Amino acid sequence: MTDYYEVLGLPRGATQEEIKKAYRKLALKYHPDKNADNPEAEKKFKEVSESYEVLSDEKKRQMYDQYGSDALKGAGGMGGNGGAAGFSSMEEALHTFMGAFGGGGRGPGGGDAIFDSFFGQEFGEGQEYARQGVSKKAQLSISFEDAAKGIEKELAVTTNIECSSCNGNGARSPQDIKTCTTCHGSGQLHQSRGFFSMSSSCPHCHGSGKMITASCSECHGAGKVKKKQRVKVPIPAGIDDGMRLKMTGYGDAGEGGGPPGDLYVYIKVKPHDIFARDGDDVTLTLPVSLTEAALGCKKDLPRLLSKKPVRLTIPSGTQTGKILRVKGEGMKNVHGHGKGDLLIHVHVETPVNLSSKQKTMLEQFQETEKGLNSPERNSFLEKMKIFF
Ligand SMILES: [Zn+2]
Ligand SMILES: [Zn+2]
Repeated sequence: MTDYYEVLGLPRGATQEEIKKAYRKLALKYHPDKNADNPEAEKKFKEVSESYEVLSDEKKRQMYDQYGSDALKGAGGMGGNGGAAGFSSMEEALHTFMGAFGGGGRGPGGGDAIFDSFFGQEFGEGQEYARQGVSKKAQLSISFEDAAKGIEKELAVTTNIECSSCNGNGARSPQDIKTCTTCHGSGQLHQSRGFFSMSSSCPHCHGSGKMITASCSECHGAGKVKKKQRVKVPIPAGIDDGMRLKMTGYGDAGEGGGPPGDLYVYIKVKPHDIFARDGDDVTLTLPVSLTEAALGCKKDLPRLLSKKPVRLTIPSGTQTGKILRVKGEGMKNVHGHGKGDLLIHVHVETPVNLSSKQKTMLEQFQETEKGLNSPERNSFLEKMKIFF
């Protein structure tokens, strides 16, 4: 009589998690698709599945623990020709296998990593023979001004492109492409075991159904050749640091007639000496002297997109931290939704390195100072009074 715990290599007190883990490992090891024409593995696979079927179900497990597998004979649909909890067919055993992998009715491409990799290897290849080429990454560094204006840059990339001498099929001539003798052109191998029929990708032609008897002399059968290409990358005005441009079709050539990969260009915008960016707005910190801020002044400021300066009026009494806005002098929106503004952050600089004459003048000024010259300072002093 088979001991289900022994089959899974577990102690009697094993947790559900341990049971599932042990089962996954063994089921993959003895899976019929990995053990073609190995009746010993097939027997093991059924045993493992049978053990899991019972131990993963708390009710069945309890009965088995108390009375052994005999107790399960009549227990609700479990009985089969193969003994206690035996599987009548490979199909049933495989159904349990799928269930344990969270697959159930799902096809290849579900969420479970183990499930995916397993089916990717064993079932997927044949159907996905035509594959998109590998996509590439590149980086381009541009100036702040170029980001504002937009620019076209050239990029040198080495890609695997389709061999022009064989049109990518890898054969010396079309006559050198023959039907695969292993799978007779289907790209699939079918094997049946009992009631269950399995198909897998033909290992000889890797699912293409064709074989090449003489290789192309240009690419030596690879169907692809390395080529350095100069790619013109149009960079739109308003592009920001870290943005990515997709150059469709500039990656490696595809396989089996699949489309080529893409080229992703990552943009690095170098910082500017005086301008910075805040969304589509461009910012600038403008230091002004104490007298300029107090008396007011006019300033000519550089513009991002024009040699002509923009004239800015700083009104008298401007405080530090004040933001002045020049409409439409910012970045173009990269998606074409208008333009940002130029935001000027005023920073009032306290005079330093005073001469004795300047010091005397400031002292004279101080003597004339009234509360209304510094309303903020004055109101603060008023509020402080209650503390003393
Ligand atoms: Zn084949
Ligand atoms: Zn070739």
